[in-house]
Amino acid sequence: MIYATRFAPSPTGPLHLGHAYSAILAHDSARAAGGRFHLRLDDIDQSRARPAWAQQIKDDLQWLGLTWDGPVWSQFARHSHYNMALEQLWSMGLLYPCLCSRADIKAAANAPQEGAPMIGPDGLIYPGTCRTIPKGEMPKTSVLRLNIKKAIQSLDIKSVCFSDREKILHRSAAEMIAQIGDVVLSRKNMAASYHLSIVVDDADQRITHIIRGEDLREATFIHVLLQRLLGYATPEYTHHKLIRDEQGKRLAKRDDARALSTYRLAGHTPVDIRQMIGL
Ligand code: GLU
Repeated sequence: MIYATRFAPSPTGPLHLGHAYSAILAHDSARAAGGRFHLRLDDIDQSRARPAWAQQIKDDLQWLGLTWDGPVWSQFARHSHYNMALEQLWSMGLLYPCLCSRADIKAAANAPQEGAPMIGPDGLIYPGTCRTIPKGEMPKTSVLRLNIKKAIQSLDIKSVCFSDREKILHRSAAEMIAQIGDVVLSRKNMAASYHLSIVVDDADQRITHIIRGEDLREATFIHVLLQRLLGYATPEYTHHKLIRDEQGKRLAKRDDARALSTYRLAGHTPVDIRQMIGL
């Protein structure tokens, strides 16, 4: 298997030092292994993605001296692939349409008999209001959720696990149900949610190593479960530390002062950037 990794930013704002850290780690590891490094635009949410940001991402990465293999993938062009994966899960009886608004979910999760609401990688854990046995054809325009309990039962597994920096991390079936819950895999005006689209893209691009921030570690349990359900291989993961500002706050896209373009305009070099992030 050829070593392959990727950087998958959302074109919703400027790249900052944290993105540079992720992109350089992934790029350099692929180059050291003689493998592939791919650039993908995580632009499934077209209401927030902008072509100008996509262009700036490419300019910033080039300025940093990073090169990618093959064309830049855009999720916008890959709806049919996500739909096939959704159809597969639907035919396995693992998805159901959900009509709840955010407010409904909040109200149900806050109901007195529910105890303290639990927060998972996707926000409030879904209380299961719409959970039904799916019948007929997959609806094309509704929110679709994964019945996580049924999904785990269908695989007949006791836990979901993956290798993170060569350490094996586990979540038992009970923890998956209680701490993650029925996640959304397809949104109303989007072909797929982040979780589904990224898993399909990683499989189609035969990514063997995923290097990304530790804020996505919990979500990886969802991704690995989806890989098992869809018959995909599970890559090796490295969830790296997040780059923070002097106050210890993680950098955000709106944090213009830390944008790579700001440093570039101020006369800094790519070597300065590597030094600033400890590489
Ligand atoms: N688009 C995601 C982000 O910018 C990255 C997703 C991933 O690396 O899996 O946080």
